Amino acid sequence: MNYLDHLNPQQREAALHTEGPLLILAGAGSGKTSTMTHRIAYLIKEKGVSPYRILAVTFTNKAAGEMRERVEALIGSGINMWILTFHSACLRILRKHAGLLGYDTDFAVYDPADQKAAMKSIVKELNLDDKRYTPAYFLSVISDCKEKALGPDDYLRAYGEDPKTKIVHQVYRDYEKLLKKNNAMDFDDLLLNTVRVFQKDEAALLEYQQRFEYIMVDEYQDTNFIQYTFVKMLAEKNGNICVVGDDDQCIYQWRGADIRNILEFEKDFKDAKIIKLEQNYRSTGNILAAAHSVIEKNYGRKDKKLWTEKEPGSKITYYRADDERDEARYVAQEIDRLKTKDRRYSDFAILYRTNAQSRTFEEALSRRDIPYRVLGGLRYYDRKEVKDIVSYMRLVQNPSDDLALLRIINEPKRGVGAKTVDKLQALAGVRGESLFQTLTDEEVVGSLSAKAAAGLRQMVETIQEYSREQENLRVSDIYDGLLVQTGYLKALEDQNTLEAEGRIENLMEFKSVIYNYEKDDGQLSLSDFMERIALLSEVDNHDENENAVVLMTMHSAKGLEFPFVFLPGMEDGLFPGWRAFDREDGLEEERRLCYVGMTRAKERLWLTSASMRTLYGKTDFTRESQFLREMDKKLLDGDAVFEKKKDSRTPISLDGYRGAKPANPFEQLKYVKRQVKERRETGAEAFQPGEEVVHPKFGRGVVEKTDGKIIQVS
Ligand code: ATP
Ligand code: MG
Repeated sequence: MNYLDHLNPQQREAALHTEGPLLILAGAGSGKTSTMTHRIAYLIKEKGVSPYRILAVTFTNKAAGEMRERVEALIGSGINMWILTFHSACLRILRKHAGLLGYDTDFAVYDPADQKAAMKSIVKELNLDDKRYTPAYFLSVISDCKEKALGPDDYLRAYGEDPKTKIVHQVYRDYEKLLKKNNAMDFDDLLLNTVRVFQKDEAALLEYQQRFEYIMVDEYQDTNFIQYTFVKMLAEKNGNICVVGDDDQCIYQWRGADIRNILEFEKDFKDAKIIKLEQNYRSTGNILAAAHSVIEKNYGRKDKKLWTEKEPGSKITYYRADDERDEARYVAQEIDRLKTKDRRYSDFAILYRTNAQSRTFEEALSRRDIPYRVLGGLRYYDRKEVKDIVSYMRLVQNPSDDLALLRIINEPKRGVGAKTVDKLQALAGVRGESLFQTLTDEEVVGSLSAKAAAGLRQMVETIQEYSREQENLRVSDIYDGLLVQTGYLKALEDQNTLEAEGRIENLMEFKSVIYNYEKDDGQLSLSDFMERIALLSEVDNHDENENAVVLMTMHSAKGLEFPFVFLPGMEDGLFPGWRAFDREDGLEEERRLCYVGMTRAKERLWLTSASMRTLYGKTDFTRESQFLREMDKKLLDGDAVFEKKKDSRTPISLDGYRGAKPANPFEQLKYVKRQVKERRETGAEAFQPGEEVVHPKFGRGVVEKTDGKIIQVS
């Protein structure tokens, strides 16, 4: 059978439509990603296109890896093709062209922890109150700016000259300076600077426009302005661009994703062809119907409905737990019950709203000896010892990386105190050189205490030695050498504590990470390795073959599928989170996230909530999620205690609003209030506590109390 025979007619049409702009707009599980992989195979096999001329971009390394596997399954392995995340693609481009922007091409990539360290030092330097102005605050404003391609001065112009903006402006400028001085870019810079290269240098842009005859983007609904610009610039010349997405699954607006990118594709690319896929191949009928009953409550959506040939299957199970421990116990028990011989633990996924929910599940699963993996949270690479050794490796690669040096200058203890560090930094500043450079000056080092001098000399020598020899050594040898010669390992061994032992184990585990990379790539260089680990996103340690229950956030589960899915914490305030109400469209985004979560399930879906929950150290009684209340009850089994309250009065209907919907949910709340008022004025029965009302945005609610013209609905 031909590989294209696996596709349905619409999918096949999409795969064969290779010339000109193409948008595949379709709901979850309809085979968008599969169609894209078949399209790549078709281009290479049938149309004779060189893989070198194809660019396929996705959002996570995991998704990129999966796509590569699927393509290789169709056309054989060993192809040299760019199936990459946005960040990796940009990184490759910048490794060649960053010089145009005044960087060395071996620039360092700062991950969030590095960014935070950099920002902390700036906040300290500027003597800002770090309670009021947290590094996280500045970093998030800066990240927002970079996603919109706004530099520090653009920011000032855009947001005016009030005192707060001025402070952010100053911090943003210092941050940029610091990064530049360290020859470093953060993740947002990778995209922004690539676009800058394209804008600055026509020849560079042309090189990639000509190279990539065919461009494909998965999950296009989640692209932000700068990603969109990147894609648009590349595709402008020959217009062979295929984007795939689902407006119902746009869940990154809070990170700058712009749903208009997909909705306005036809405007951006003239004569775009649009193909819709309507058959869902992933989920049973009941799961699909339940997910649809939630997402259809959103206003800003193109109406579309999926159908499936699959059986309705089991109903969705709902369990109302006493508290979060009971919830976790229930989930673990269900997994135990359903984990039969022909099932693997990796068939089960627990997808929560926030990482903070994971701990109770970890405990409950351990109690039953169920193997599990947590993705996200404190990543392996965020552990202290791993960060330390990575800093050493970064220094070998780039000795002028001051941040890396500061991290390990007294790690292991060399008798270099904070005062000495300050002095050394000041000196380096005056001389206009890197800290490492200063440490190579015997006169400087000689003036320190004997212990510090000896320790620093040893460190500098080690780093120089490996820096020189890095091309001739395997990464694992460099790693071993650094651990021993810097005294890091010995210091841990000397501590002789359980904690130190744990750290040594982690360092050994890190070695197996390196071995694995070396196994895949015999020529692996230190910079290759550093690049790969710098870009590891949280989903990446998800190993399909590992037989363990998977725990992760719903956000990270985008694009993935599992036979059995649990969505815990279905409570107002947690999901949808209270924060959703701070932003226009916030609630709709949460509802889309609920749709994403539900549609990850192939066979069975559980929803759970806890009557009482302790989270972030606070205990509260909870109310079932609005999304549960919105769901078609016929499809639910179990504790449906949120069933309609018995009330003979007709609930207030806001259907009249459906035509001319005000964009802002608060406007709509005002509408409810106005109706209340009208009822009073027309002598109609006023709302009573306990009465149910329906609101187009907030869904059903129960009147808690009335106070003059205002009703409080919970
Ligand atoms: P999402 O929106 O969640 O990213 P998607 O539209 O990308 O979903 P895929 O992941 O490509 O969907 O496909 C969902 C499932 O359906 C996969 O298991 C895939 O193998 C299967 N599938 C897709 N197309 C077909 C088909 N024509 N026949 C049989 N199975 C299919
Ligand atoms: Mg997909």
